[in-house]
Amino acid sequence: MSFNLDKITRENVKGLSPYSSARNEYVSDGSTMVFLDANENPFENGVNRYPDPQQRGLKAILAEQKDIKEENILLGNGSDEVLDLLFRAFCEPKQDNIITLPPTYGMYKVLSGINLVENREVLLTNDFQPNVEEILKTIDSNTKLLFICSPNNPTGNSFSTKAIEQLLKSFSGLVVIDEAYIDFSSEESWTSKLGEYPNLIITQTLSKAYGMAGIRLGICIASAEIIAVVNKIKPPYNVNQLTQEKATTRVLDTKSINNEVNEILAERTKLEETLKTVSFVTTIYPTDANFILVKVDDATLRYNQLLKKGIVVRNRTTQPLCENTLRFTVGTSEENNSVIIALKELSK
Ligand SMILES: *Cc1c(COP(=O)(O)O)cnc(C)c1O
Repeated sequence: MSFNLDKITRENVKGLSPYSSARNEYVSDGSTMVFLDANENPFENGVNRYPDPQQRGLKAILAEQKDIKEENILLGNGSDEVLDLLFRAFCEPKQDNIITLPPTYGMYKVLSGINLVENREVLLTNDFQPNVEEILKTIDSNTKLLFICSPNNPTGNSFSTKAIEQLLKSFSGLVVIDEAYIDFSSEESWTSKLGEYPNLIITQTLSKAYGMAGIRLGICIASAEIIAVVNKIKPPYNVNQLTQEKATTRVLDTKSINNEVNEILAERTKLEETLKTVSFVTTIYPTDANFILVKVDDATLRYNQLLKKGIVVRNRTTQPLCENTLRFTVGTSEENNSVIIALKELSK
């Protein structure tokens, strides 16, 4: 395959230059200046100024932690915005298509609908791995994006490195690897392979392991060339000042993040041990994430019984290959204990 970024970029996007905001044109070097360029209210309250549209401070820390360059990073209002920007940069409505691998994260399909881009679905195999042969058969000259979620939501497993490498090598469009759960996984991030694959895009988020779903911060990692294209269509102030500040404090606190991840992983093992003893649980699927997918006798019945006991899990029974499955997010020790008590009562 030969990857040609210019060939897969939308014609209208090629001609665009990014919106140049006041804060783009003058970047502070730290010296005291009088800012009369952006029609802001001059009375300081912590957020009266526009935020840095390129989030330089936060990107510098992320680049160092992830051993990449700042030019390889684009930040968004959650990874959901990042994914939407990829559609808008590369997929021509009513003409191009994308490939998703159900059962998987629902947002890819929603975004394909919003952007009027055909979503071609290639089911995972029975052991929840990409069906490489089928995917390659489904690709045509209008296929722009292939979404790979690893560890996958809702199944929890990581995809085979070999299968992903095969897809990266044989697809001349963009392979988007969604690593929302990578910090719970023993697998290495694909960020270390950026130099090897010009068509690789990785998305990460502060919403899961970093415990910051409320601030909305998504991370897109790719070649500087790909990032430059997406930057052309990014809304200038898509990551607000409060988010930039909260995120910066949090990502620097690696000790707390590691402690919390380790506790969640220990709790996950505890929950798995209990699930093994529950009479109506037939399969506990292997997981690399902060949730466990289980097959039960009757998912809707068990979902409602848990709900009556004040516990909300996710019923995934309508998803392909997921009949009668429930997805349990791992909570605090206390929360998991209440789940364990409820499961034992229902198991009697
Ligand atoms: C939760 C989740 C996300 C996170 O999306 P944000 O918009 O960053 O909160 C992304 N991808 C997958 C697969 C997820 O499960």
